[in-house]
Amino acid sequence: MLKLWALLLAALVMTPPAAAQSAGAPDPALVDDLVAANRILYDQGVVDGFGHVSTRHDRDAKRFLLARSMAPGLVTKDDILEFDLDGNAVDPRGRTLYLERFIHSEIYKAHPEVMAIVHSHSPSVIPFGVTAVALKPLYHMSAFLGSGAPVFEIREAGGDATDMLIRTPALGAALARSLGRAAVMLMRGHGNVVVADSLKLVVFRAIYTEINARLETEAVVLGQGKITFLNDEEAAAATATNNQVIGRAWELWKQKVAGGGK
Ligand SMILES: [Zn+2]
Repeated sequence: MLKLWALLLAALVMTPPAAAQSAGAPDPALVDDLVAANRILYDQGVVDGFGHVSTRHDRDAKRFLLARSMAPGLVTKDDILEFDLDGNAVDPRGRTLYLERFIHSEIYKAHPEVMAIVHSHSPSVIPFGVTAVALKPLYHMSAFLGSGAPVFEIREAGGDATDMLIRTPALGAALARSLGRAAVMLMRGHGNVVVADSLKLVVFRAIYTEINARLETEAVVLGQGKITFLNDEEAAAATATNNQVIGRAWELWKQKVAGGGK
């Protein structure tokens, strides 16, 4: 009997695990842009039923915004959730979460300068992750590729029998370490991750990563393997110029997908 009372008392004083504190409502314009980013990336052929885009919360650098697990082309404001840097949804509202949300949480944790992330399986990029051919900037629009995109080999972090997904914080942390200062990293046999210091810029980079991959594949054939890429100086100068004018492309892409997601 005494034991029963002790158990009841223990149950009463046990507090549930503390839910992460919300940073508060994000800027509605940022949420609007995140919804647009999801739809633009689908419209431009970077994501399909899979892939995701996130942005750091405007009120707290230790929080980020990402949709619930769903096709990016269908995301609305109501699907956007707040996450902490361990990949926990602050208030999941019973929603299913992306298995690979640790790509986002661990990159934001390791790289304070990163404000937005795209993860996709954009098709033209895949061959560059599984061959010795480096993805490098073929023209000025993809100058952010710099001296070439690094490749993440999941076997080094997760062994020989993963399902290729970044489904744990440990795999996310390994990915974040491999990224270094690069804007784009390829994931062997899987896809790629793109980072930037703004949502608009990360969308721009994800789109031109796919286009550069397509053009490089054509140039390899046309040039019988010989290609003149941008050098480091040209890449740096063109990146600085592009960063000033991405608004022009963003307005065009956003207008094309307007009407959905409200
Ligand atoms: Zn993936």
